[in-house]
Amino acid sequence: MSRSKLRLTVKRLWASALAAVIAAASFSSCEGAGGAQKRTVFAMDTLFEQTVWGASEDLFTKTAGLLSQLETVYSHTDPDSELYLLNEAGNGKISDDLKRLLDIAAEVYEASDGAFDPGLGLVTQLWERSEGAVPPGDDITAALAASGYGKVSFENGEIHLNGVRLNLGGIAKGAAAGQLLYECICSEASGGIISCSSSIGLTGTKPDKSKFKIGVRDPDGDGNEYIATLELSDCILSTSGDYERYFISQDNVRYHHIIDPATGYPAQSGLRSVTVVSSGVSGDDDLFYTGAVTDALSTAVFVMGLGEPSLKLLEDFSMEAVFVFDGEIYATDGLEDSIILTDGGYSLKTAE
Ligand code: ADP
Ligand code: MG
Repeated sequence: MSRSKLRLTVKRLWASALAAVIAAASFSSCEGAGGAQKRTVFAMDTLFEQTVWGASEDLFTKTAGLLSQLETVYSHTDPDSELYLLNEAGNGKISDDLKRLLDIAAEVYEASDGAFDPGLGLVTQLWERSEGAVPPGDDITAALAASGYGKVSFENGEIHLNGVRLNLGGIAKGAAAGQLLYECICSEASGGIISCSSSIGLTGTKPDKSKFKIGVRDPDGDGNEYIATLELSDCILSTSGDYERYFISQDNVRYHHIIDPATGYPAQSGLRSVTVVSSGVSGDDDLFYTGAVTDALSTAVFVMGLGEPSLKLLEDFSMEAVFVFDGEIYATDGLEDSIILTDGGYSLKTAE
């Protein structure tokens, strides 16, 4: 898509003074509708929920096997996973499955100018282990200096981490959701929702032929409050928000789990969340790739904030997005017909 074609038109939704904005995709109510089949599997530290209409049991047998296979490669916490063992060893031969996701991660790393960095594991580990406290500044500086996917090299069929620790937490779940969506599309299901909290895949329709409604979450709500909905199907969407994992320091600063690779500290782009939406998907597409890119882009754009670079990045991958700030929501123009306000305190304005 050319730059002029995208036009970079954004919709601006002004929040009321009190309304703390923002979004994270999550289901609205479709549970139990029309005899939906539901299966929940815990994998890669998250729950994968499949809500499907008209599938046979074979689909769920296949997706359960797939998730367990993906877990053995990409798990961040399982000490027997290939990724975990590679991080411990520092170098070695890697499977085609791991190489495939690393190649996509590298593509987004380069396209985002390092805002999405799969080589940030030393820094993210420091924050994850800090137990609600800000790690010492010297530790952050040292971890950051030893980090960065640019240091990783490949020689003679082997990967060399060169001191870097890989973290695929910002991309693997989206890839898995995409792969599950692909299986659902290729089954006889008439519709399906694949959800793993921050990434959702949609195909077909509900039994009444309507599209799915995805809630844009109020980031200061309890997880069940929404400020808008997106009516969508046949796409993958991923959300990164500052309310998923965070702590508030004594001086009232919110430290969340998305790190700016330029500083080693939680990103401060002003965004509370961003939801990235892929263009239309079908069974002819590589949905592992689409899901991975959608997920990685949500992390990258959250770090970059709203501006020419992030809009260009989305355009390059033919993706749309909803950006949520305190008091404001922006949506790229491709979502114009999909977004519905659900809070009277918000109004829709257009900005070019
Ligand atoms: P979620 O984990 O809630 O799905 P994201 O998709 O935004 O949210 O991924 C955030 C995770 O990615 C973090 O928990 C961390 O493990 C890792 N991460 C944090 N910052 C970055 C970054 N700048 N680039 C790549 N991965 C990151
Ligand atoms: Mg992400």
